[in-house]
Amino acid sequence: MSGHKKKILLADPSHEFIHSILEHKNAHLYIFETVTDGVDALKALRKTSFDLVIIDQMMPHVHGIEIIKTIREEEKNKTCGWVVTSYHIMIQNWRAAVDLGIDAFLPKPQSSDSILQTIENYFQGTLEQPSAPEGRTLFESNACYTPKSTHTHQYIRFWGTRGSNAVAGSDYVRYGGNTSCLEIRYENDLIILDAGTGIRELSESIKDQHFDTIHLFISHTHWDHITGFPFFHPVYNTTTKIIIYSPIGFEKSTEELFSGMLAYAFFPVRLDDMQSKIIFQPLQDHATVTIGKIKISTHYTNHPGVTFGFKIESPNKSMAYITDNELLLGFTGHPSAIHRKHPLLEPHLSLLEFVKGVDFLVHEAQYFQHEYCHKIGWGHSSMANASIFVKYSGCKRWIVTHHDPSHTDKILQRKIQVHLDILEEMNMQDIILDIAYDGYCIPL
Ligand SMILES: [Zn+2]
Ligand SMILES: [Zn+2]
Repeated sequence: MSGHKKKILLADPSHEFIHSILEHKNAHLYIFETVTDGVDALKALRKTSFDLVIIDQMMPHVHGIEIIKTIREEEKNKTCGWVVTSYHIMIQNWRAAVDLGIDAFLPKPQSSDSILQTIENYFQGTLEQPSAPEGRTLFESNACYTPKSTHTHQYIRFWGTRGSNAVAGSDYVRYGGNTSCLEIRYENDLIILDAGTGIRELSESIKDQHFDTIHLFISHTHWDHITGFPFFHPVYNTTTKIIIYSPIGFEKSTEELFSGMLAYAFFPVRLDDMQSKIIFQPLQDHATVTIGKIKISTHYTNHPGVTFGFKIESPNKSMAYITDNELLLGFTGHPSAIHRKHPLLEPHLSLLEFVKGVDFLVHEAQYFQHEYCHKIGWGHSSMANASIFVKYSGCKRWIVTHHDPSHTDKILQRKIQVHLDILEEMNMQDIILDIAYDGYCIPL
């Protein structure tokens, strides 16, 4: 009886698909030969004359269209019928198959019932001409997914990632040129770390919003961390209170320093003339301030004068923000030389303890090794020394900020590669490294 059965080549990369056809209750009516690879399909077609070929368009190694083209030129296969199946239902794919004179084009997925029905129709001569696939999806429901956004009310955003001095121009388009400023937003609270030039753009972004109170933390009063203050619009708003938290310096208070900076000789509006209610709140080392659901703690860093690093804890995440910190003063050797108990690490053990367990660590790494050799004692870290700090902090995500003004976009791109090289040499490939840029935003 089998001599009367039609011979069908079933060419499909999916074993499951082939299995479902062979298991069908009507499969016994035909003789199936199966292949899962394009090369095998060609071999089978050259060896045997089939009555019908059901072939997936994306056969491994040799494309289904190429197989049809090749075989159709060989005479013995001229009478064979061709059914093309495909997940790739773009009109171009359909057209390529139809132009070869195929008998059916079946967009996948197809049930075994529908395949067997197509086979039956073909042999009965009732198969309809293949029609162009309509725009369709593999899924019943095609609701448009919108990722849950926390960026509107729980985030940090870098408004200034440059250290020392603001820069501008075509060489600084990618990472930006504003000096230190970080916005922390949690529900209705606005907290700002540092008032570098980035704070001007921050104030542009909130000009249509009103805040009764804005909390501004100053890590230290070097220019790159305060120079944007007079350009922060809310200082001119009579209904806003601005609390400025800062370390207690060696000489003048932050209030005196701000008054000095806002003398008429430097700026047309004096501190006393600013309409908002400005309150100066000096902070000590290891202080903690709670604002709504955010907790901010302070810790000294190794930088000329009194400088803070901050730890910020929200109900979901924690981060440390350390923009100015010279680690392992004067060390320029291979990072592997600094073990956990090395005396050079000793001055930083308290800070390491402070940042322990944070979800991400924002820490400067201002200098390449060759640059640091000439800038020892300037208050900033080499990339390798910062990597050692990251290693012993146990933190798995490191965001580098406070970029040197001489580091153009091109140099910062190169710096990423050098960072990765250092991390690899230190067996720290599991660290997620980011280079912050002006506008960089992370959910908190
Ligand atoms: Zn700085
Ligand atoms: Zn500084």
